[in-house]
Amino acid sequence: MLDNYRSPWMTEELDQFSDQVKRFAKEYVEPNVLKWREQKFADRKAWLKAGELGLILPSVPEEYGGSGGHVGHYICVMQQLNHLGSGLGLGLSYIVAHYILDSGTEAQKQHWLPKIASGEVICAVAMTEPGAGSDLQSVRTRAVKQGNKYIINGAKTFISNGQTCDMVLVVAKTDLAAGAKGVSLFMVDTRTPGFRRGQCLEKIGMHAQDTSEMFFDDVEVSEECLLGGVEGRGFYTLMSQLAYERAQIGVNAVTIMQHAFELTVEYTKDRKVFDKRVIDFQNSRFVLADLKATILAARTFADHIIQKWIDGSLDTVTASMGKFWLTERQCEVVDKCLQLFGGYGYMNEYPIARLYADSRIARIYGGSNEIQREVVGRSL
Ligand SMILES: Cc1cc2nc3c(=O)[nH]c(=O)nc-3n(C[C@H](O)[C@H](O)[C@H](O)COP(=O)(O)OP(=O)(O)OC[C@H]3O[C@@H](n4cnc5c(N)ncnc54)[C@H](O)[C@@H]3O)c2cc1C
Repeated sequence: MLDNYRSPWMTEELDQFSDQVKRFAKEYVEPNVLKWREQKFADRKAWLKAGELGLILPSVPEEYGGSGGHVGHYICVMQQLNHLGSGLGLGLSYIVAHYILDSGTEAQKQHWLPKIASGEVICAVAMTEPGAGSDLQSVRTRAVKQGNKYIINGAKTFISNGQTCDMVLVVAKTDLAAGAKGVSLFMVDTRTPGFRRGQCLEKIGMHAQDTSEMFFDDVEVSEECLLGGVEGRGFYTLMSQLAYERAQIGVNAVTIMQHAFELTVEYTKDRKVFDKRVIDFQNSRFVLADLKATILAARTFADHIIQKWIDGSLDTVTASMGKFWLTERQCEVVDKCLQLFGGYGYMNEYPIARLYADSRIARIYGGSNEIQREVVGRSL
C-alpha cells in the first residue's frame, strides 16, 4: 500500500517470523473475533497457542521461557494482530513481563516469566483507580507490611485483561508520606483470597477486550510479591516502562491506519454512485491521496521510534510524542476512511465501523494525550 516503502529495521528473518504470526492470526484469531466480541474476551486456547508458537514473549531470553529475539519480533506480532480487534491482550502480558525482566529479582523472573511466555499466566497492569488516572501519585490503594507479608487494600478500574488475568501488577502506596517514593509495585496472583473482579465494563469499542474493576480487600501477599524486593521504586519503574507502552500504542496506530486505508481503497473501487465508482470522484481521490501521505509520514515516525527501541535508546519524550501524534493521526485517518463508506461505514458489520470505535481509546489510555504533551512540554 505504501508502494516500495520498507521499514529499515525489517530483515528477512523478521519477514519469516511475520508470516508465521500471520498464519496464527488466520487460523486461531480471525475465525473467532466475532465470538470473542460477543463474550467480551479472547479464549484461553488462543493464548496457549500463541505461547506454544513463542509469540507472547518473543524478546525475552530463552532461559526465562521467551523466544530470545528482540523488540522487532514483538512489533511483528503486534502488526499482524492489532488491527483485527481480537481483544487478545498479549501486549499486557508483554508489558508486565518486561517490568519483571528489567526490575524483578532473579527468583521473580524464574517464577513468572516462563508461565507468562507459555500463556498459562495472563497478566494485567492495575494503575488506574476511580479517583486516580492521570495523577498516578494520588493512588489510594495501600500495601501495609506485617512481618514478612503485605496486606493490600484498594480498588482499581478500567483494567484491561481484568476478567481473564491470572496475575496483576498492582500499583500501591507503601508509604503515604513519601510522595513518589512511597509507590511500590506488587505481583498479585488473582487466586489470592480477598481479590475480587467487578463486572466486565461496557465500552463504546474494543468489545473483545475485557476491561474491569478490581477490588482488593485485605489481600495478603508474601514479600516475594514486591517487584524487585525493594519498596518505593514503583514510580520510577512505571515512568521508565510507560515509555514502551506508549511507543506500542503509537506503533499500533499506524497498523490500524494502514488497514483502514486498504479497506477504503478497496471499497471505493467497488461502490458505484451516480454511475461512477466512489474513487472516480475527485474528492475521494484527494482525500485518499492526503491519507496516503499522512500514513507514510506516520510509518516513518513509528519506524524511528521502533529503531530507538531496538537500539535501547528510546527516551520518554520521543515515546510520548509518538503516542499523541500517531494516535491523533489514527483517529483522523479512520474517520476520513469511514466517511468514504457512507452509511455502510456506520454499520457494525463493516470492519471500518469497528476500527473507528476501537481507535478512540488510543488518545486516552496509556496516559492521555494531554499528559503526553505535558511530558514533551516539560522537556523544552
Ligand atoms: C478501555 C480502557 C482500557 C484501559 N486499560 C488500563 C489498564 O490496563 N490499566 C490501567 O491502569 N489503566 C487502564 N486504563 C485507564 C487509562 O489509562 C486512564 O483512563 C487514563 O490514564 C486517563 O485517566 P482518567 O480516566 O482517570 O482521566 P482523568 O485523569 O480524570 O482526566 C480527565 C481529563 O483531564 C485531562 N487532564 C488530566 N490531567 C491533566 C493535566 N495535567 N493537564 C491537562 N489535562 C489534564 C485528561 O487528559 C482528560 O482529558 C484504561 C482505560 C480504558 C478506557
